Amino acid sequence: MLEKMEEFDPEKVIEEFEAITQDAGKVQRETLKKILEENGSAEYLQSLGLNGRTDPESFKTCVPLVTHKELEPYIHRIADGDHSPILTGKPITTISLSSGTTQGKPKFVPFNDELMESTMQIYWTSFAFRNREFPIGNGKALQFIYSSKQFQTKGGLAAGTATTNVYRNSQFKETMKAIQSQSCCPDEVIFGPDFHQSLYCHLLCGLIFRDEVQFVFSTFAHSIIHAFRTFEQVWEELCTDIREGILSSRVSAPSIRTAMSKLLKPNPELADLVYKKVTGLSNWYRLIPELFPNAKYIYGIMTGSMEPYLRKLRHYAGELPLLSADYGASEGWIGANVNPKLPPELTTFAVLPNIGFFEFIPMKHNIEDQDHNQMDPSFFHIEPEPVDLTEVKIGEEYEIIVTNFAGLYRYRLGDVVKVMGFHNTTPELKFVCRRNLLLTINIDKNTEKDLQLAVEEASKLLGEEKLEVVDYSSHVDSSTDPGHYVIFWEISGEAGEEILKECCNCLDRSFVDAGYVSSRKVNAIGALELRVVRGGTFQKILDHYLGLGSAVSQFKTPRCVGPTNNLVLQILCDNVVESYFSTAF
Ligand code: AMP
Repeated sequence: MLEKMEEFDPEKVIEEFEAITQDAGKVQRETLKKILEENGSAEYLQSLGLNGRTDPESFKTCVPLVTHKELEPYIHRIADGDHSPILTGKPITTISLSSGTTQGKPKFVPFNDELMESTMQIYWTSFAFRNREFPIGNGKALQFIYSSKQFQTKGGLAAGTATTNVYRNSQFKETMKAIQSQSCCPDEVIFGPDFHQSLYCHLLCGLIFRDEVQFVFSTFAHSIIHAFRTFEQVWEELCTDIREGILSSRVSAPSIRTAMSKLLKPNPELADLVYKKVTGLSNWYRLIPELFPNAKYIYGIMTGSMEPYLRKLRHYAGELPLLSADYGASEGWIGANVNPKLPPELTTFAVLPNIGFFEFIPMKHNIEDQDHNQMDPSFFHIEPEPVDLTEVKIGEEYEIIVTNFAGLYRYRLGDVVKVMGFHNTTPELKFVCRRNLLLTINIDKNTEKDLQLAVEEASKLLGEEKLEVVDYSSHVDSSTDPGHYVIFWEISGEAGEEILKECCNCLDRSFVDAGYVSSRKVNAIGALELRVVRGGTFQKILDHYLGLGSAVSQFKTPRCVGPTNNLVLQILCDNVVESYFSTAF
């Protein structure tokens, strides 16, 4: 694979992708065989009685579906320094920390060379398709990427977020070079000890190399929004630094200061130009193309929990296309965006059938089972059988199950996807939501997506006052009788009481799930509560996650804060400035 990277040829990458997707079923069987051959000696697989069999049928019969919880004891033994083959044939030497948005704390997951290779395969594949539609020239990329704190586990294994493990790997740099996506920042900025200082320098480097910047990137779109919101606050200071060639004292890390001193030279013309561009803007509209005149697009994950940022992103982007990035997790990659022309709302991910073995639990049956459950609870535990990659049906939703080269077997990732079509024989998936992020009290069932739609609808009312929802989250408050939904909003300014009351009613009405509406009507669910939090509250939540070892690059605002996440709930509750109860029902 390394040779391929050194002489990266996009057409060849596309050809290879077309080849592996021609008979995705066959590639899946071969991939499973390879995974099981490489790892058959692992204690976990040995204990399940596979006895060297590598066919999907035996695999499914012997190996149970698991969540992270069941694998945790194994992963902890690895992290604590047990070098025996526990989950994989070759010992795991690196641990990734997932963002931990759902549980409230990062999870440990195994990381190895095979995961690194599949990461690069995903990068090449989506780049090859992207570059065909939106070619970039030789230049640089303004990449808002950050490393997390790296530490050693008790057993001496390197641990950091998956993105950090990727950025630190030498293959990453080579790949970025090969796909013309080199960061305009020195490594010291990416790996700096404090992300506020790194962000400031990312912006500064972007301006220094403004003519060369070919595209703007972050792993998740949240970081792009966060970066340009910060730009709104610090742009004058950035101009002063450029004018004088002296880095602001807000950057104190010696490693970053030394690296930046090599780039920063007094440049009054550039400072004047940036000043002129910024002061010529109306409400920051088209900020990005004004600052980076040669940028061809903006790139990053914009689907799922990132969709709420699209409006703001389009505002900063003007006419620049928004290209949504690939689908994966710390646990491994799943699919690449091979239709980059589609807007983020329609983005799909073509599954790469050679990077893992994928199964899909039909969701429709689950919902039917749960409907049964209201009459007879014994139905609840009937789980429909997972189907294989090539057996999924267009229009249906599934929970995705991953088996990878890094010791996860039939692992429930916790995501729900919808099959939108096929690329050759591999499905093109749309990300729907996290499965367990639900607002539910009675017979109601609202997903992250339902919440997003309700917030979108209600926040339109704020538009009349030229205000916007900066970020939001939610919670089920069952301390009241009956319990009720609480929605937390951070707003870009001060909204009037009347408008907020209307927003609150609109939120309540916008949850159209039949279980919710009927429960509200008979007061089996109490009036929805809108709690407005002070400016900067969501920054505090981000800081809280960073303190736990998470990285800005992987940050996703928790959209529903459950009982296991009481520290985040505390931050939200401590910052409430006003609250409203709905009178919609
Ligand atoms: P992490 O916990 O940082 O490993 O994040 C992985 C999770 O992020 C996935 O399980 C998804 O829920 C979400 N995610 C990753 N890629 C995408 C994408 N392209 N669209 C929507 N959600 C995504």
